[in-house]
Amino acid sequence: MKYKQSLCWFRRDLRLSDHVALSHAIRQSERVFLFFIFDTNILNKLKDKDDRRVSFIANCLRELEKSIKSKHSSLIIRYGDPVKEVFKIVKELKVNAVFINRDYEPSAKDRDDRVLKKMRSIGVDFNSYKDHVVFEHPEVLTQQGTSFRVFTPYKNAWLKELCEESYSDFSCKLDRLAPKEVCKKHLWDWSLEKIGFKQNFPNIQPGEKGARSRLNSFKRYIEEYDTNRDYPARVNGTSGLSIHLRFGTISVRALVRFAMKNNSKGYKTWLSELIWRDFYQTILDCFPHIVIGNFKPEYDGIQWEGKTKHFQLWKDGMTGYPLIDAAMRHFKKTGWMHNRLRMVVASFLTKDLLIDWRKGEAWFAQNLLDFDLAANNGGWQWASSTGCDAQPYFRIFNPIAQSKRFDPEGEFIKNEIPELSGFSKKYIHWPIMAKQTEQCKADCVLGKDYPFPIVDHAVQRRMALNMYKKAKIQSPA
Ligand SMILES: Cc1cc2nc3c(=O)[nH]c(=O)nc-3n(C[C@H](O)[C@H](O)[C@H](O)COP(=O)(O)OP(=O)(O)OC[C@H]3O[C@@H](n4cnc5c(N)ncnc54)[C@H](O)[C@@H]3O)c2cc1C
Repeated sequence: MKYKQSLCWFRRDLRLSDHVALSHAIRQSERVFLFFIFDTNILNKLKDKDDRRVSFIANCLRELEKSIKSKHSSLIIRYGDPVKEVFKIVKELKVNAVFINRDYEPSAKDRDDRVLKKMRSIGVDFNSYKDHVVFEHPEVLTQQGTSFRVFTPYKNAWLKELCEESYSDFSCKLDRLAPKEVCKKHLWDWSLEKIGFKQNFPNIQPGEKGARSRLNSFKRYIEEYDTNRDYPARVNGTSGLSIHLRFGTISVRALVRFAMKNNSKGYKTWLSELIWRDFYQTILDCFPHIVIGNFKPEYDGIQWEGKTKHFQLWKDGMTGYPLIDAAMRHFKKTGWMHNRLRMVVASFLTKDLLIDWRKGEAWFAQNLLDFDLAANNGGWQWASSTGCDAQPYFRIFNPIAQSKRFDPEGEFIKNEIPELSGFSKKYIHWPIMAKQTEQCKADCVLGKDYPFPIVDHAVQRRMALNMYKKAKIQSPA
C-alpha cells in the first residue's frame, strides 16, 4: 500500500459512488479520511444569507454523512480558508496524501495550486484526478493540436475519442474508511446557522438519492427529449439534473452510461447536451480571460447603451414582454430557468435592452441553483454573440415569435403571470394588441394591471445592429 493514511477532500463531488479521487484513495491507502470545507472565500461573497445553494449543499452533506455513517465512518467538516484548513487537518490526522477531483474554474485552480505548494512543503502528496468531465484539456484537440473553439467539430472529435473506458464506473468497496471512533475527536457539530446561513429549502431532493430519483423519472421521458426540450411548460421535457451535476451528487460518467444505452434521437440529443457541458468546461480551462472579458476581442469596444432602470425591470419581470417576464418571475421564485428561456431572456437583455451581458451573467450567478461558471458564461456569451461558437450578432431573437413558438398556448406565461391569465391565445404573447374592451374582458388593463412594453423590439433591434457593427468596425482585432 502506497500510503498509510490519506484524506479525500470533497468539493463539487458530493457522493460516494463513482468518485474517481475516492476510488484512488481507497486503492492506495490503508486508511482514508473523508473531508469537506465550507470555504469562507466563497461564502463571504454571498449576499443572501438564505442562499438556496448553501442550503442544498448542507442538505447534501447531511445525506452524505448518513451514508458514510452506514459504512462505520464519519465525514469531517471544517469552515474557513481551504489552504489553512487542509494544512491543519493534514497535520491533525497525520495523513500522507490528499486526494481531490480537479475543478477547472480559475479561482479553484488557484486554490488547488496554493494547497499543492503547501502540501509539498510538508512532504504530503497532493493527487488530483479528472472526474467532473468526460474529457478534459488536452484530450480532445483539433488536427493542429489546438483546443476547439467551435462546438460541432469539438463534438465530433469528442465522440470519436469516446470508448467504454471513458465512462467506466469508479464505484468501489469502501472498506478502508477511517473508523468513526478514530474520526470522533476531529468532528465538529456544524449547522448552517453556525456558519451564518439560514435554511432556504430548495424544492429539490438533495444528495445521491435525489440525483438517482431525478434520473429515474427522466428515463421515462428521454425518448421524447428532442421534441419536448424546448417547451418550458412541458413537465420533464428536460432532465432537471443540472444542480446535481453542479454539486456532483451524480457522476457525469453515470449519465453518459445511461445516454449510451440507446441510439435513438432523444438519447443522442441529450448526450449532445452533456458534450456542451464538457465543451464549456474546456473553454473556461483554456481561455480563463472569459471570466471577465469577451471571448472575441473584436467586441471589446461595444458601448452598451442600455438604461439602469431597464435592468431592474428585466430582473423584476416587468418589461411588458410576457414570456420574458414569466421567465424572470419564475427564476426569482425558484432559482431555476428552462434553457430556452435562458437563451431568450439573455438575448433580450443584451440585444433589446442593450445591457452588457456581464450584468445578466452576474444576476444569474447570484440566483441560479445550478450556477456553474463555465456553462453560465458560455450561455451568456453565446446569446450576446461575444463568445466562442456564438450565434452571429445579427441573429436576434424576436421575443414575441419565441413566445408563440415555444409556449403556443401561453400555459407557462399564465402560470407565472396570473394577471394575464384572462387573455386568449391570440393576445397572451403580445397583450398590447388587445383593444380596451378585450383588456376589460380579460380583467387586465395594460399600464394598470400589467406594464406596457418598455421598449419597441423593432427599434431596439436596429440599435443593437448598429452598436455591434460600430464595435466591430472600430476594433483593431
Ligand atoms: C444564458 C445561459 C446561462 C446558463 N447558465 C447555466 C449554469 O449556470 N449552469 C448550468 O448547468 N447550465 C447553464 N446553462 C445551460 C442550460 O440552460 C442548463 O444546463 C439546463 O437548462 C439545465 O437543465 P437540465 O438539467 O434539465 O438540462 P438537460 O436539457 O436535461 O441537459 C442535461 C445536462 O446537460 C448540461 N447542459 C445542457 N445544456 C447545456 C448548455 N447549453 N451548456 C452547458 N451544459 C449544458 C447540463 O449539465 C444539464 O443538466 C445556461 C444556458 C444559458 C443560455
